[in-house]
Amino acid sequence: MIRARHIEHRHAVALLIAFTAALSCRGPEPQSAPAADKTTFAWWHDAVFYEVFVRSFADSDGDGVGDLRGLTAKLDYLNDGKTGGDDLGINALWLMPINASPSYHGYDVTDYRAVNPQYGTLADFEALVQAAHARGVRIIVDFVINHSSVEHPWFQAARTDAASPQRDYYVWSPTPLPWERPWDKATVWHPAGASYYYGLFGDNMPDLNLRNPRVEAEMLDIMRTWLARGVDGFRVDAARHLFESTGGVLTDQPETFEFVARLRAALQEQYPDVLLIAEAWTGHEVLAPYDDGRGFQMAFDFELSEAIAKGLGEGNATAITAAVTSRNTRFRHPEFTAPFLTNHDMARVMRALDGDVRKAKVAAALLLSMPGSPFLYYGEELGMMGGAGPRDEDKRTPMRWDGTPPQHGFTTATQSWYGAAGEATGTDVASALGDETSLLNVYQRLIALRHGQAALSFGRAHTERLPSDPPALLRLHRALEGEAGVMLVANVGAESVVANCATLDGRPLMNENAQRSTDGTCTLGAYGFLVTGYVTSPEQRCPR
Ligand code: CA
Repeated sequence: MIRARHIEHRHAVALLIAFTAALSCRGPEPQSAPAADKTTFAWWHDAVFYEVFVRSFADSDGDGVGDLRGLTAKLDYLNDGKTGGDDLGINALWLMPINASPSYHGYDVTDYRAVNPQYGTLADFEALVQAAHARGVRIIVDFVINHSSVEHPWFQAARTDAASPQRDYYVWSPTPLPWERPWDKATVWHPAGASYYYGLFGDNMPDLNLRNPRVEAEMLDIMRTWLARGVDGFRVDAARHLFESTGGVLTDQPETFEFVARLRAALQEQYPDVLLIAEAWTGHEVLAPYDDGRGFQMAFDFELSEAIAKGLGEGNATAITAAVTSRNTRFRHPEFTAPFLTNHDMARVMRALDGDVRKAKVAAALLLSMPGSPFLYYGEELGMMGGAGPRDEDKRTPMRWDGTPPQHGFTTATQSWYGAAGEATGTDVASALGDETSLLNVYQRLIALRHGQAALSFGRAHTERLPSDPPALLRLHRALEGEAGVMLVANVGAESVVANCATLDGRPLMNENAQRSTDGTCTLGAYGFLVTGYVTSPEQRCPR
């Protein structure tokens, strides 16, 4: 579906609120929260992103491996470029690595300018970009800048010849230094001949020496190459680890911020709308310096992801409220953090939610009502759980397009690259599209709502709490400066809740297992939620 025209819509909303205010009753004033600066909106600020593992999305040629042509052929499912209809409505894609790589995942690159031949050709990629842009869908690509593959020609030259021009593209030491990998204390120095090279993620992924100006120039040239091919930005992998101190501090170095600021400034000379989003897997306190206004424009909100999982796991909204408050107070730019539920490095959210579709629906409502540009992980909208095993492959299983076993429309081959992942019956696009009660249907409606309500894309956010609210109740208010905005009221617990809904106006936008009464209360069933307009001025509210 085509994105709504926000500015016109905002005025319509304000009028509607004025007319419906008489139906509403008094409630607390919103607390202050950072206001978005409406003059500086960029294309990603009203984007809903969709993360795709190309290998697992759709196979066009029957070899059991997903490819770019397969993705292009499925764009209608994601966004058909038309108003209305039963497409998902996302308007930006993040492609996990599509460069040449010896691994199935692609996070060890052997040619940063080449398309992985298993995924197709450069012409296939350009056709995908053209088809996506024609629908108003932007594309960002994974950029694995921290390290290359051990098989990259740069490293092959560096390893075999200490005098080669590529030797200083990597980080060498005559002895293994006593550095420890932050998350598991593993060694990060790996032997090669008489020397050792630094490889944080293992001996097959040697870290690039980004202090070398020639490496920086290579990276800039590679990024310009992809921008010239039409990409709209980059998801920068392992952003916390781009630089390391000589003393062995392997995260969050000041040089990282300077480096990314230089990249952005150089790229923006020719591509002013380029997006750089950081994968910095940490909480808000450590993440805050990344929001320096010069480098990254966004970073994934891992703290919120954890808080949503915890809130739904415990039936208590406190952690979610705390994450929203923390976000509001710690970041300079209110749109810096990008909410998501889970990504390709985590067990799928549906597995964490024990396959309970009610929980998945309220999780979707939280995701798509949050400030910052939300990211969905492919198949999340179907409730895919992925494989039962602990391997990364089990988090990245083939998309389910229809109910036909064994491959459910992913490929015409009998075997996929993965094998066969079990999923609950009906966990496929064809089944979900025809079912008004499906999780997919909820995602479609929430995305359409976000595109239709400017406050949900651009508005400031704060949570609200009434003394009578049970711990499972979350009230999330989103509003543009001077406007009433909208509110999500969500029950993250399994017990039904009766809540004071006096601050909500008469404009129901979405109800899911929730009802409002004329007495100013609303009843939210297990994991129920509602989104409505909001009342801000006391004179618009009923007397107590
Ligand atoms: Ca294929």
